[in-house]
Parts: sequence; C-alpha cells; structure tokens
Amino acid sequence: MRTPGCGREKMADLTLRGMVIRTVDYRDNDRILTLFTAESGRVDAKARNCRKATSPLLACTQPFTYGEYQLFYHKNKYIVDQGEVLESFYPLREDIGRFAAASLCAALCLEGVQAEESNEPIFSLLYHTLSFLTYGDNDPGDLAAAFLVRFLSLSGFRPAITQCAVCGRDMREDPVIRFLPDRGGAVCAACSPVGRRIGKTALEAMRRMLLLDDDQLGRVKLKAPLRAEVLSHLIPYAKLYLPGIEKAAALFTSLHMPPEATEQE
Ligand SMILES: [Zn+2]
Repeated sequence: MRTPGCGREKMADLTLRGMVIRTVDYRDNDRILTLFTAESGRVDAKARNCRKATSPLLACTQPFTYGEYQLFYHKNKYIVDQGEVLESFYPLREDIGRFAAASLCAALCLEGVQAEESNEPIFSLLYHTLSFLTYGDNDPGDLAAAFLVRFLSLSGFRPAITQCAVCGRDMREDPVIRFLPDRGGAVCAACSPVGRRIGKTALEAMRRMLLLDDDQLGRVKLKAPLRAEVLSHLIPYAKLYLPGIEKAAALFTSLHMPPEATEQE
C-alpha cells in the first residue's frame, strides 16, 4: 500500500526497513512508533492520523509489524510519510502467551539497542524470533529463553555460564554452581558460599542456545522444568542490567512461569 501522506509533493528523506517495537498513542489518532532497523538501530517516528480506520498507515503502524517506511524530517522529528507492510506477524496479536514473549523481546531491544546505530545481529535475532513465535510450534518460553541469552551476549551483557564470573575458572565439572546476577552470572562455590544454585543442565542449555544460528532457533525444545529454571535465572539477570524491561517481564512471567520457579531461594 503506497499512498502519499498529507497530500505533500516531496521526496522522503529516509527509507528504512524495520520492526515496530513500541507504539505510543497521542491525540485522537496519532501514534509515535519506535522502529528497530538493521541499518539504523532504533528510530522514533510520528505517524499522523494512523489510527483512523481509513488511514493508509493503519496496517504498517501496528505492534511487531515489519515494514518499509518512508520518513521525512521535520522540526527535529521523523514523520512517517508512507509505509508498506512486509510481514505483519499478525498471529502474535491473537495469542496472549506469544504476544507476551514477543513483547519481552521488543522491550529488550528498546532498552539495549542504541538509537540510530546499526545492529544487524540483534535485528536478525529479533526477526527470526518473531518468525518462530508466529509460525513455529515452539513453546514461547523456549524462544524467549533463547532470545534472552543470545540478546544479552550480543548487547554486551553476556552472563558467565562456563567460567566462574569471579575467578574465571572452568566450572563444568563442579558439583555446586550458583547464579548471581550482580556478580555477572555463574559463580563457583569457592567464590560464593551463598546464593541461588543453578543446575549443570541449565548452564549447558544456555551454552547450546548460544551456538545456534538465528534460523535454527526452532530447534530449542526444553522440558518444562528446565525451561522454568533457565528463565528463572535469565529474567532477573536481564532486569538487573536492563531495568526498563520490568513491565514486559512481569507480563511474561505471569503467563509463562510457574509461581514456584520465580520464588527466590
Ligand atoms: Zn570462582
């Protein structure tokens, strides 16, 4: 759909392909989009009148939509002039469990991706994760777990999972390992005698999730207790370093985590 906006005869200043990772509604029919693009990282743009049923921008301004957007620059802001939906990921909006997982991924990108700075690896990770969440048969919790550990690694917050975060020793043969977000991840028993323990299988699952390519994320299939354990460590870790994900993490946790898995030991 390509209809000129506002009857204006002008060239667009910028054409970007990106995913809508946040929408903020204002006035009666307007919306500010945060787009996540491969070339330019996060970009905010106003979409005027896009919430009117007759607006040519209605479809391309929905949450999680991947589209091509023509923007022009006006008074220090980007304005969406035209947009074309490339992939709507529409089913995400019809399933609260998948929606919550997608929202957590989007919140992480909103917090951890820089404005107007290219970030192709994280863009690819989000695109593939949304694709599997929409069209795959994976548990949304598995895809969220894989997204979390890979996102943290790509964005400079990689948790220690093989070497102790404090002394650097390889812990793969250790009988007791703890996971302490404020120390940077897994810690050996000598470096910390207290704190919540993490199982070897959970650490091994995280290592394997880091080794996949983005188009192999559909292979992540964890048993429910292992999924809950992995998420129960990764979510508090991510919240510590990226506190802005709190609201999305709370929704995700309420739908995907058994209450006992979220209790602190
Ligand atoms: Zn240690």
